Parts: sequence; C-alpha cells; structure tokens
Amino acid sequence: MIPGSFSYHRPATVADAVKLLADLGDDARPLAGGHSLVPMMKLRLATPSHLVDLHAVAGLKGIRRDGNSIVIGAMTTQHELLGSDEIGKSLPILHETALLIADPQVRYRGTVGGNVANGDPGNDMPALMLALGASYQLQGLNGARDVRASEFYQGAYFTALEPGELLTSVTIPVPAAGHGYAYEKLKRKVGDYATAAAAVVLTMAGGKVASCTIGLTNLHETPLLAAEAAKAVIGTSLDAASLKKAAQAAEAIMSPAADARGPVEYRKHVGGIMVTRALQRAASRAK
Ligand SMILES: Cc1cc2nc3c(=O)[nH]c(=O)nc-3n(C[C@H](O)[C@H](O)[C@H](O)COP(=O)(O)OP(=O)(O)OC[C@H]3O[C@@H](n4cnc5c(N)ncnc54)[C@H](O)[C@@H]3O)c2cc1C
Repeated sequence: MIPGSFSYHRPATVADAVKLLADLGDDARPLAGGHSLVPMMKLRLATPSHLVDLHAVAGLKGIRRDGNSIVIGAMTTQHELLGSDEIGKSLPILHETALLIADPQVRYRGTVGGNVANGDPGNDMPALMLALGASYQLQGLNGARDVRASEFYQGAYFTALEPGELLTSVTIPVPAAGHGYAYEKLKRKVGDYATAAAAVVLTMAGGKVASCTIGLTNLHETPLLAAEAAKAVIGTSLDAASLKKAAQAAEAIMSPAADARGPVEYRKHVGGIMVTRALQRAASRAK
C-alpha cells in the first residue's frame, strides 16, 4: 500500500509540462486529481519514476462557452462541474453523471481530464463524451491536435495519447434545446464504479424519437457507442418492441469482463436494462 519512490515536478505552463513529459519519457506520468493514479501506484500497478503535477499549470481550468460548444479545461474538477450554471443549463447529463461518481471527497479532487484520459473502462465520463460527440485537445511538443472521443479509446488503459502528450481540454457541442438525457448506472453500493451504465441523449418530435445517441460504460474494454441500438429507436415512439430491439442491439456489442461485479451474462443483461431505462427517462425529459 506504499507507492515506490518517484521524483515530483510542478511545471507552471503547458509548454513546460509537455517538455518535461517529453524529456522524462515513458517513466513520467501527468498527475491530475490523483484519484486513479495514486491508488494504482499504491498497488504497484503503476510505477512511474516521475510525476508531473498539473495543479500549477495556468490555463487548464475552467468552463467556457465557445459559440455552440462548451470547452472544459482538463484540470476542472467534477465538483466544479456540479457548481457550474453553464453545465447545469447546457449539458445537464454531465451534472447528473458527476453526481454518480464516487463521493464528494473524490469529486473535489478528480478532474474531467483525468477521468477521460485515464482509459479505465469503469470511468463514467468517457461514455458521455461518446454520446455527446465530444473531442479532446491533445498538446505535444509539436503542437496541438483535436481527437474525437470516438477515436480516442483503443483498449483498456490504451488511448490515442502519444508519449509526452497532455490532454488540455474537452470540447462538447451543446445538444439541441429541449433534448432529453439520462445516465443510468447500476452499482453495487454508493461510491462504486458501474456494474453497467448507459448514457442517452435524444430529441423527440411529434411523439417520436428524432435523434438519439447511446454510450455504454464498463461493458467492454473501452467505452462504447451503441449506434445500432440508437438506430433501433429513431422514428419510433419508444414502444416496447423498439425498446427491446435497442436493448438487444446494445447487448450484442457488449463484452464485459467477468469480475467481482458479476459474470458476463449478468452484466450484459443489466447493461440492456440500463439502456432501456435511460431511453425511457431521456424521452420523458425531452420537450
Ligand atoms: C473510491 C473511488 C471511487 C471512484 N469511483 C469512480 C466512479 O464511480 N466513476 C468514475 O468515473 N471514477 C471513479 N473514481 C475515479 C475518479 O473519478 C478519478 O478522479 C478519475 O478517474 C481520474 O481523475 P484524476 O483527476 O484523479 O486523475 P489522476 O488519477 O491524476 O490520473 C489518471 C490517469 O490519467 C492521466 N492524466 C491525468 N490528467 C491527464 C491529462 N490532462 N492529460 C493526459 N493524461 C492525464 C494520469 O497520468 C493517469 O494515468 C473513483 C476513485 C476513487 C478513489
């Protein structure tokens, strides 16, 4: 339960942080809230020789509107999301999901950047980012690039981040006014990671689903976009048959690990139920 020894670095700018990461190579890791990285270090599942603390880096915090998008700085905490009127108004699904992450202590420290960059299939924010069509800005020695969330996750703890790159912000297009949303998360107890969870963002017109996206958490080694499940409900009034079709289409792409949260078949089954509930609740909120 005691991490190995490491050197601690505290850069003040993104350029300095990126240079440090590039110079120190594979042995260095960015440190954000530390609520995934430090437990991994204590278990010796991560053994970085250098930690590059991002807390003093200027310009990595904050939530701002940029035209029809919301830009969230990587070091913005989950607690700060919950306190933001802009998030409450424009992206209420982020608010709902942040409240389902762990407990207030974790949310005071845990950051949006750390949650989406971590690559743990159990993190809740990545599936939302898929459902919302978000993109991530990655900064390296050779400049910045934008990567869609849908192209970022490549395997468990394996992402599009190149060695030495820092995720600096998340950009999320604001969903249509009157959209419906829901994040349904089954967990064993308060504060736990998801056994299965589903994020739904949809619009309704004339009692029928006009558009829909569905993201899945902890049901595969990466977060999933359940495109066929969403297709199954578009144009329908979410009657029992189309809900069943959507749940089946979502279950077909799930391949969760069998672990302390349950065997594969159970997790897929409850994954389908999360999809059904999220669709129903999102529709009930759509205007
Ligand atoms: C008891 C407990 C319960 C939890 N329950 C949940 C839960 O239910 N749902 C959930 O989603 N999370 C949960 N978490 C995790 C929590 O949300 C973490 O805070 C989050 O996963 C990581 O954010 P962080 O800021 O703490 O990142 P850190 O732990 O500092 O970093 C995580 C990883 O991302 C990398 N990293 C961090 N920031 C950047 C960046 N800007 N650019 C590039 N790489 C970066 C780090 O190098 C590290 O590899 C829980 C944690 C605890 C301790």
